[in-house]
Amino acid sequence: MPELPPAFGFLASAHTGGGGLPAPVFATRGRHTRLDARLGGSPVEVDAVLVHPGADAAGAHACDGTTLVLFAGEIHNRDEIRAAADLPASASDAELVAGLFEKYAVHAFRIVNGRYAALLVTGSRVLAATDHAGSVPLYVRPEPGRVLVATEVKALAGAGAVVRGAPVPGARRVRGLTGLHQVPAGAVLDVRTDTGAVTVHRTWAPPSHRLLMPEDEAVARVRTALERAVVRRLPAVGRPLVVLSGGIDSSAVAALASGALASGIDTLSMGTDTSDEFPQARVVAAHLGSAHREVTIASADLLSLLPHTVHACESTDPEVVEYLLPLTALYRRMGGPPRRVLTGYGADIPLGGMHREDRLPNLDTAVAHDMDTFDGLNEMSPVLSTAAGHWSTHPYWDRDVLELLTSLEAGLKRRHGRDKWVLRAAMTELLPAETVNRPKLGVHEGSGTTASFSALVRRAGAAEEEVAAFKARVVQALFDRTVVGGVHPDEVDIEEIVAKAVAEGRG
Ligand code: ATP
Ligand code: MG
Repeated sequence: MPELPPAFGFLASAHTGGGGLPAPVFATRGRHTRLDARLGGSPVEVDAVLVHPGADAAGAHACDGTTLVLFAGEIHNRDEIRAAADLPASASDAELVAGLFEKYAVHAFRIVNGRYAALLVTGSRVLAATDHAGSVPLYVRPEPGRVLVATEVKALAGAGAVVRGAPVPGARRVRGLTGLHQVPAGAVLDVRTDTGAVTVHRTWAPPSHRLLMPEDEAVARVRTALERAVVRRLPAVGRPLVVLSGGIDSSAVAALASGALASGIDTLSMGTDTSDEFPQARVVAAHLGSAHREVTIASADLLSLLPHTVHACESTDPEVVEYLLPLTALYRRMGGPPRRVLTGYGADIPLGGMHREDRLPNLDTAVAHDMDTFDGLNEMSPVLSTAAGHWSTHPYWDRDVLELLTSLEAGLKRRHGRDKWVLRAAMTELLPAETVNRPKLGVHEGSGTTASFSALVRRAGAAEEEVAAFKARVVQALFDRTVVGGVHPDEVDIEEIVAKAVAEGRG
């Protein structure tokens, strides 16, 4: 992989009349490249802005005169696609998608394993596609004569009221923004520019079946799949950075990356003035011999980044925002040149790691529920890190790893009194025993984020039993102010938002 993908995001308008682009407002940091394309044999014109880290956005767009592709993110099964579609080794990800589309039409998106959002315009059709996990969020505003698509919904918020927004069955509406829809995870929204009518094609669904297999086989398969996903995410030159807590999930990623690279890896841990996991992370860094760094963030500074977190992830889920706040702060404090960052994020969802649950039926119910409800939470949004110029990637949510982990029967996830047993067993030779056996501690717990946010709400007058509801109000208010309202997060006073949320909650 190159250090960074050719584009982090885009905003596009496919239209038959006037009405070009709204202002390209992104939380993502990067240069902007404008494109105008008129496709042969089609009344549709496309105006677009790509936001990208390099000098140009070559590789993130492809046009053969009749089909235009915009591509944000990266593909992980390039070699297989090149072979199947008979494309040269030099083909960019945008060209791979164009080539696959020629051969498979809309089914092309069932084939791509990647971390991406894509737009494909051909004839009078506009296809807006997400990866299996919707890990790069994508939003659409379909109208007769003009279809707007963007990787950040705030870029579409300024487009004005929708005249005749067609309903989109199966796609989530966006709070406070009529006529706007989020493309579901693992889906393609197929929009007709003349009528604005939308068809939804599914390209991935979480497996519902469960696999029985001997312990040894499960352990070997998890190790192989995860190793492959880590290796596919390593930079071609230079060292990867693993954000490391010393928990099993990130330690496994660090160990596999370190094992694959003679040049070694960098690791980075964050903590706050109230709480950290520094000793546990140091154990892993010392074991692997990584170049390790620690960053301590004052809790007040952490909380002041709540608006930036919501602005970046565009999520209204208060728990998700608590998970993402410490990582947002970490990415902002990393400094230095833009980096490719590997995380251990997301392992708990298919493995049921956050459900301290011994009974297998309940554990599997929790896994099935979490896999059915992750969509739209934007937990994996790259904008958390691209807002600071860095690219983050999540090996546990690689399509192959996610499918394998989800489909293992619950007894392989909870066994011998251990949560995430199969992962721990797969790592016994690579990590110290104390790391392999360490109980789960969520990033929101280890960094003191949940406690600090609760204290903030309590200081504004919330009673204990009101804390959760008032946090939810705060997150909604931040979404309304920064994403819908277009206020820059630097201009938002978090204390004022909290005071207002508590007062209104009482109202
Ligand atoms: P476990 O779930 O067993 O605690 P973990 O700590 O690696 O393992 P999470 O707690 O789910 O995983 O945290 C999600 C991811 O966020 C981690 O895998 C890691 O990449 C990153 N992370 C969490 N805490 C920190 C931290 N203090 N410093 C740096 N990165 C962190
Ligand atoms: Mg942890």
